[in-house]
Amino acid sequence: MQVLFGGTFDPVHDGHVAMVDQLRVSFPSAAIHVIPNNRPPHRNSEVSATHRLEMVHLAMGHIQGIEINKIEVERSGPSYTIDTLNILRKQFGNDESFVLVLGADTIRKMDMWYKPMTVPLLCNVCILNRAGERIGIPSVLSNMNEIVDGALLDNLPSGNLIRLQTPDLFVSSTLVRGLIARGAKQLPIPPNVADYIVKHDLYQDPE
Ligand code: ATP
Repeated sequence: MQVLFGGTFDPVHDGHVAMVDQLRVSFPSAAIHVIPNNRPPHRNSEVSATHRLEMVHLAMGHIQGIEINKIEVERSGPSYTIDTLNILRKQFGNDESFVLVLGADTIRKMDMWYKPMTVPLLCNVCILNRAGERIGIPSVLSNMNEIVDGALLDNLPSGNLIRLQTPDLFVSSTLVRGLIARGAKQLPIPPNVADYIVKHDLYQDPE
């Protein structure tokens, strides 16, 4: 089973690390790919993909069972999830179980994605609840088969939906960028990521 946790990680924060810890518990036999994007399709990132990737390495590189996957960073242009799934399908074959992990806020915007109808054909989807966000299933996922036992996904390559109960953590990259620009010293990010941000003078300008 390949669990795919993508994002902009601009910057990576304690919420991302907590989600990865939860994924390791919920999918103990899986390889967990953390996939920073090259360029988010529907927004700008504050800092380069190289910096974001490096910060993800600092935050999660030591965690067992995690692969920090450069598949999107190494591809130029906007990072469409469908393109990533197609490449990974070629790499792992059609029988491999894929679980695409998406937070409730990301799910909400799925109808605006590039070729979203293809998602259920290529992978299973795991929805993370997110503090302050209501979970609404978008129409593109409405025909997926909802299951409760994550272990079942081992033998199911695609087409199933699972909701994961995760702790409510009121942290986002937007919050972290705002705190840094205001000069806050206590940040909800790993200390080595905080050091990296200071060293490279990142996120100093208010958005
Ligand atoms: P931004 O504030 O810039 O939008 P973000 O905090 O949402 O950033 P992303 O890199 O966009 O961070 O998130 C990657 C994935 O992690 C998304 O699917 C997102 O929903 C999920 N995620 C991020 N923070 C949390 C959190 N605190 N709880 C649950 N899921 C989260």
